[in-house]
Amino acid sequence: MNQFENELKKDKFVCSECPKCNKLVWPPSNFCSGCFGDVIWRQVSRNGKLIEFSKKDNTIFCIAEFENMIRIMGELEIGTKKPQIGQDLELVKCNYDIKGNFFFQLK
Ligand SMILES: [Zn+2]
Repeated sequence: MNQFENELKKDKFVCSECPKCNKLVWPPSNFCSGCFGDVIWRQVSRNGKLIEFSKKDNTIFCIAEFENMIRIMGELEIGTKKPQIGQDLELVKCNYDIKGNFFFQLK
């Protein structure tokens, strides 16, 4: 279990970042994929945008992008707004069981 998963359990969305290369390391890892150096963990902005979505029964699954780089799949909470590609959304909840679970809401 890595830091990413541990933090998800606490409803915290973090990513690894290499202070040397000055870039996010995604998928999250304890080592930088560029220089293999140690990473630091920091919170990711919870404001993202909608990349793709599909509706199945009464659930909307989607891919959301954060900080122009991190793409995660999750569930879009059905509100009163109709989802559109590129729309701003917010990560409202995350947790972890056997995988990361993410829940988004349109802004
Ligand atoms: Zn690096």
